[in-house]
Amino acid sequence: MIVALAGGVGGAKLAHGLARILSPDDLLVAVNTGDDFEHLGLHIAPDLDSVMYKLAGLNDAVRGWGLADESWAFMDALARLGGEDWFSLGDRDLATHVERTRRLVAGETLSQATAALAAALGVAHRIAPMSDDPVRTWVETPEGALPFQHYFVRLRCEPVVTGFAFEGADRAVPAPALAAALADPALEAIVLCPSNPFVSIGPMLAMPALADALAARRVPLVAVSPILGGAAVKGPAAKMMAELGVPVSSAGIAAQYGALLDGIVIDAADAADVAGIEAGGVRVLAAPTLMRDAGDERALAEAVLGFARGIERRAP
Ligand code: GDP
Repeated sequence: MIVALAGGVGGAKLAHGLARILSPDDLLVAVNTGDDFEHLGLHIAPDLDSVMYKLAGLNDAVRGWGLADESWAFMDALARLGGEDWFSLGDRDLATHVERTRRLVAGETLSQATAALAAALGVAHRIAPMSDDPVRTWVETPEGALPFQHYFVRLRCEPVVTGFAFEGADRAVPAPALAAALADPALEAIVLCPSNPFVSIGPMLAMPALADALAARRVPLVAVSPILGGAAVKGPAAKMMAELGVPVSSAGIAAQYGALLDGIVIDAADAADVAGIEAGGVRVLAAPTLMRDAGDERALAEAVLGFARGIERRAP
């Protein structure tokens, strides 16, 4: 059994590859909720939705977020009313947020609401939020701290980043499915998907209870680098690394995760980084890591599993 920790798009692609080769009981995808927010009275969970839509085969691969075959009548009508239209919600996507919010208001946990939505969309594999407790990412900038979606969507990641805060993380505990999977004797490995290390994996590691569970693991933990050839495939990961003084490379990703890693999968184009990372005691696999289609996703998932199963947990 494998636990994959994932953010949005990069995480969803590897999760999809893993789901192609692991049975539903053998995979748990635990997803970042640090960029969840309340908007128009709705609970929006962008990374959970990216993973759920991808595993359901309903995602829009061109736009990179939301549902395929989407329409925008709601946004057009909202804009006409002078409503808050900086965060786009497609008509079909809107139903997800309304139904999630209805379930939460009725007393379900985010885990329960997520499981119900995923099942309704035909997802067989298990998807869980990282936690049922609210964790909210703030992006620190010279002009002050910004809620994550204001930085990411409203300001298009333009402000310089000086750090992050994860409100509520100190009190948050891993979701029940994640805690159980990490304690399961059948657990073989933990995979950090190619996701933003600061704002997708960072909020998870900021939960002391999850950090402790990861530190107590007996199985190897391997990351897949989201940086290829000195650049991110998409999103602000490389910009954030540069602004924070972290080398924009797979070696920088390895350094960012530090002692947590037993192994890292980096792109074959970055093979020059192998020796430097291995000198720090982390095992490295250099392999093609760009996932352009389902074949790439599956091939990378197979490489990651083969690598993780062939290495051991470093002595803590
Ligand atoms: P977000 O919430 O949609 O930004 O999603 P994530 O945090 O999961 O993913 C963002 C990261 O995924 C970026 O840093 C990208 O470089 C990385 N990424 C996206 N697609 C790929 C891919 O095909 N291969 C690899 N190695 N990284 C990817």
